Amino acid sequence: MDKLLTKAQETHNLSKSEIIELLNSDGSDLFYLADEIREKYVGNEVHLRGLIEFSNICKCTCKYCGIRCSNKKIQRYRMLPDDIINLAGKAYDTGFKTVVLQSGEDSYYTRNVMCDIIKEIKKLDIALTLSIGERSYEDYKAFKDAGADRYLLRIETTDRNLYKTLHPNMDFDNRLRCLKDLKSLGYETGTGCLVGLPGQSIESLADDIIFFKSMNADMIGLGPFLPHPQTPLKDCAAGSFDLALKVMAITRLLLPDINIPATTAMETINPDGRLIALKSGANVFMPNVTDRVYTSKYEIYPNKSGIDATQNDIISEIEQKLQTIGRMVSYTKGCRKQI
Ligand code: SF4
Repeated sequence: MDKLLTKAQETHNLSKSEIIELLNSDGSDLFYLADEIREKYVGNEVHLRGLIEFSNICKCTCKYCGIRCSNKKIQRYRMLPDDIINLAGKAYDTGFKTVVLQSGEDSYYTRNVMCDIIKEIKKLDIALTLSIGERSYEDYKAFKDAGADRYLLRIETTDRNLYKTLHPNMDFDNRLRCLKDLKSLGYETGTGCLVGLPGQSIESLADDIIFFKSMNADMIGLGPFLPHPQTPLKDCAAGSFDLALKVMAITRLLLPDINIPATTAMETINPDGRLIALKSGANVFMPNVTDRVYTSKYEIYPNKSGIDATQNDIISEIEQKLQTIGRMVSYTKGCRKQI
């Protein structure tokens, strides 16, 4: 094990069998090393991204997702462009240097509608991340030309068969095409996976990590699978917090300079989950700054953590939490600085 960690520390490369060995380990040395590498390459500051969940309307039917279109039990909402722009302005005034606009795959927000929103928000000195799903190359190009800086699109799993089972109306190759387009257009591109999906193997998680490395992802978002009661996977066991943490820590070893959020899913499954993640390789926090009237309705998984804070007290609360682990809030845009 020591030899493996030394190799990872020196080369930032591991074979699939070595990754599997680490995934099967107890993790303690791995988490310690991931924390050291995080400090060496991206420092002690934690970048904040203000998350705006602007529509929970989605045409897709991902089997694990609480806002899949076939869930008729949730109340749907769609924010107006002006409301999205105002909320981004409020986040900026509060101190956020990045906002993330996230939604289901909602065709109301056409290329032109999105470009107008992006251009307005980019009048502020703020980085803008989009997380609005699969679009055409032309859409991605237009959003980039309008000023968008980053794009998040999780691959969810690189196991083609599992992907097909979980995403009935989606095409794995199109997802890959989207990620390739985003990279080629110069976005800081984020991806990631769900850990502990029913039918997912340790080998396939190792493939996911190798995929992150091979595409040179700029951001990786990971979380344990959490069964939502209004989905076909409601009776499946949740993913393991420890395994999700190991996938995250190994990703830090292989991609030492990228941005890795301590996700809300980590905190939903473990009350200290986000702080533990920050001590095991993560360097980003994505607090939800959407108005409270909407946050409870954007329920991809149940009992989502951190949806009660108001925008005004979010940053001071985070500062206090970070102090307990010797970390501090970054007041920069927090772009990836590649080594
Ligand atoms: S995971 Fe994303 S694309 Fe799939 S149903 Fe949920 S919001 Fe839609």
